[in-house]
Amino acid sequence: MTTYSLTLQRAHLDQLKTHLIRDDGCEHAAYILCNKASSRHDPWDRQAHTKFLSAKIIPVPDDQVIERTENLITWQTASFVFALKQAAAKGQTIGIVHSHPAGMTMFSAQDDSNEPDLVQLAVNRNGAGTNMLSVILTADGHLTGRAWLHPSKKGYEPMRTVRVIGERFDLHYPGRGAEVSMPSFHRQALAFGHALNQDLRRLRVTIVGCGGTGSAVAMLLARLGVGQLALIDNDIVDQTNLNRLHGSRQADADAMRPKVQVVANAIAEMGLGIRVVPIEAWVGDPGCRDVLRSSDIIFGCTDDHEGRLFLNRFAYYYLSPVIDIGLAIDPGEKDALELKALDGRVTILSPHHTCLLCRGVIDPEIARSETMRRENPEEYEQRKAESYVVGEGNPTPAVVTFTTELACMAVNELIHRMQGFKGENGAAANRVRKFHLGEDRRPGHQPGASCRICGGDGLWGAGDVDPFLGRID
Ligand SMILES: [Zn+2]
Ligand SMILES: [Zn+2]
Repeated sequence: MTTYSLTLQRAHLDQLKTHLIRDDGCEHAAYILCNKASSRHDPWDRQAHTKFLSAKIIPVPDDQVIERTENLITWQTASFVFALKQAAAKGQTIGIVHSHPAGMTMFSAQDDSNEPDLVQLAVNRNGAGTNMLSVILTADGHLTGRAWLHPSKKGYEPMRTVRVIGERFDLHYPGRGAEVSMPSFHRQALAFGHALNQDLRRLRVTIVGCGGTGSAVAMLLARLGVGQLALIDNDIVDQTNLNRLHGSRQADADAMRPKVQVVANAIAEMGLGIRVVPIEAWVGDPGCRDVLRSSDIIFGCTDDHEGRLFLNRFAYYYLSPVIDIGLAIDPGEKDALELKALDGRVTILSPHHTCLLCRGVIDPEIARSETMRRENPEEYEQRKAESYVVGEGNPTPAVVTFTTELACMAVNELIHRMQGFKGENGAAANRVRKFHLGEDRRPGHQPGASCRICGGDGLWGAGDVDPFLGRID
């Protein structure tokens, strides 16, 4: 069985709201063109999952509307056929979004009887196997969706979730806000309400890199009540990790256990009902693609440039926001009393946010030499001896209080984006905490005009392309 969900870019939702929610109190409609991200195997519920990713909004022109009231809209199909043509040209799936100004969050009997005809039209125009999405937007902003798989009545599957990503991450699903939190999370509900707990329970989060910051992020997300976690790292516990790797013990180093296994075990032992999937791999391995595609949010806690370069692309192609974390400690000259830097950085990678290349965080040359070290270690060693590649330096300094505080900063950014506790302008695309100076900064960087990732919307929500994360023309 396959389950379905929809991810909307915030800018697309804003376009929809402008066109669909008007003072006349009548229904209005628009088309949405979507790309797909298909996982054969969601690691948590072990089913196939298809995420539809918003790529373009096309309003139904007012002059094509035949009739509209507060609970009905009909329009000429010429614009639908034209939108179908655009969808076919790009291999996209078409959706119809209409408003329910009176606030009904369910599909009406009218919708049930009208939509099969439109699905049939879509199949006639774009061929057998063509799907159609249908989405309702209420005046108070609630979204409900379903995916029509066959033209027949009831030939649809409800959307498990409709996500909206941008400055805020919103989840829409049936019954949101109706559940009472488990006792373990009750005190949290006293601060933020039951709806956040319910959202967190449904959330799928992958943590890439399971070292000092990654293990802290994982522990915090588990205690926050995030229901589904995956950990990706190919390293084992080493003696030198024990000072900051949450959940680790000397025995783990002695037995050379994988970091992901040690952290996953510690989370399972909390007994909070968190499903945690440990994956011992490099994030770019094809075996990680389904877990990444299935994730709502990804935390980037790697310290390599190659892994960051990969996630930097993935975030924009798949509309899966990446919260990237980095710690830089520069102890300065020996015996000097003042640190040169003790900086923690949390950066959000998502449409309308500047990418890590344009922020100068990733060094492509170091990323290239890391690729060589991974794929061709002999050549790498030889080149390193000849000083042709940028070699890895000495071990970088790390102190548990700072790696853990940085993890708190990153997780609090997620809470704010889901719940809004920092107010209107509380979201920070890039926050740097100068631990040694006791201050936070928000360094801004403009997207590079020629950056294909963040400089324009060309590949935002492209989803599955061949080759994976490949060029789009
Ligand atoms: Zn309706
Ligand atoms: Zn960029």
